[in-house]
Amino acid sequence: MDIDPWGSDSVEDYSRLFDEFGIDEFDESDVPEPLDLMRRGIIFGERDYDLVEEAIRNGEEFAALSGFMPSGSLHLGHLMVLRELVWHQQRGADTYFVIADLEAHSARGMSWEECERYAREYVLSLLALGFDPEEGEVYRQSENRELQDLAFELGEETNFNELNAIYGFDGETNMGHMQSTLTQAADILYPQLDEPKPTVIPVGADQDPHLRLTRGLARRTRIFGVTEAYASFEIEDEHKEAVRQAVEGLEDVTAAELAEEVDDTQLAERLRAGGDEGLKHRTRVLSRDAPQEAFDALADELEDTGRVERFDEHLDVYDADREDVERLVREVEVEHGGYGFYPPSSIYHRFMTGLTGGKMSSSVPKSHIAVTDDLDDAREKVMSAKTGGRETAEEQREKGGRPDECPVYELYAYADDSVCDDEHAERVYEECAGGERLCGGCKSEAGDLTAEYLEEHQEAREEARETLKGSDIEI
Ligand code: SF4
Repeated sequence: MDIDPWGSDSVEDYSRLFDEFGIDEFDESDVPEPLDLMRRGIIFGERDYDLVEEAIRNGEEFAALSGFMPSGSLHLGHLMVLRELVWHQQRGADTYFVIADLEAHSARGMSWEECERYAREYVLSLLALGFDPEEGEVYRQSENRELQDLAFELGEETNFNELNAIYGFDGETNMGHMQSTLTQAADILYPQLDEPKPTVIPVGADQDPHLRLTRGLARRTRIFGVTEAYASFEIEDEHKEAVRQAVEGLEDVTAAELAEEVDDTQLAERLRAGGDEGLKHRTRVLSRDAPQEAFDALADELEDTGRVERFDEHLDVYDADREDVERLVREVEVEHGGYGFYPPSSIYHRFMTGLTGGKMSSSVPKSHIAVTDDLDDAREKVMSAKTGGRETAEEQREKGGRPDECPVYELYAYADDSVCDDEHAERVYEECAGGERLCGGCKSEAGDLTAEYLEEHQEAREEARETLKGSDIEI
């Protein structure tokens, strides 16, 4: 299965993404107050999103970044990414929006003037959806020097064979297009330039090749080889504290005696199994110094040999928690001039089907509702849309419609909560599949709902023009 990030917006079989590319199924149950697109299964896949969920839950630093090639009208299908970015910003993410003009220029042949015009359209919608420009950053690839330097450095970590394997380039691919993949990778890692932090990239599934390239580059730019799995010895902090107190109060304690003091079955078993000989080793795990000691050993090795290859060994000696040490390792990497990047996390959404059936395309106006469409034109497009309905009303009542094959149903399912909540979307599905709903009325309702949303969004875009004038955003 090939995925082409510059092809039209469609993926034929989402389940193959799990098997062939290692994307995990998205599970919204651990996400605090999930976005409607998460609850409705439209965001269907992820990589390493648990790091971001944890950061949201614990109020820790994390970032979110996404963007667009400014190469066509912004339509309802595009708004998903913008809504996902704003949702993460509202949950504490350092949020970045990229205008991928270098990519649009090299991969789509867009002129710089066209790029500027479309970029403005995209940013107005981003602001209209609630993006806070004071707290986030909007940039153009062509004007970000730090980004270009990073892209250049990333280029040293890859070669033509790898780009060819990921993107299917051939001898005809122009060098600018190839270079734009490194610029994309630099975009994805850009939020971590000041400080390594978990970073989520919300994208359509077709963008996964960029994530695969960047995750590899993030690992290769690390000074230390830290990706090996380490079976960390997990115990609760309160138990660590209890045991530390027990150790302090009991000189010459035996492993068996210590095991008695521990209110943790797994730990007690490990203490007994280690015996007195292993006691020193076992008690080290109780010490908050363990990560620092393991880390110091890593730093010594780096100083002696210029590399660290015995990471697991150092962890093992001090029985230190892998994540704690990794955090310290990242700090020292930064001190040693490295980046300490976390491989980027990602979430993937499904694509909206074009109103004319098939792919939704920015360059085919009838296939999409543009955010700037006139309200009556938008209604008209919905009324002319392809449906999953049957040949006759009678057949529809008898067999039910096919909402899973219906672009009009998607207008409900992908709609913002403010105009169509989960219950409403579910009711449309049930009524359609059960034959109680006929397409004429259904399209008319979907047209009204779409026009209502557009009207609100267009008003918010007008207000955003003022925000844009008073902001630092230069587009
Ligand atoms: Fe689509 Fe609505 Fe017709 Fe069902 S009733 S097929 S959802 S237009």
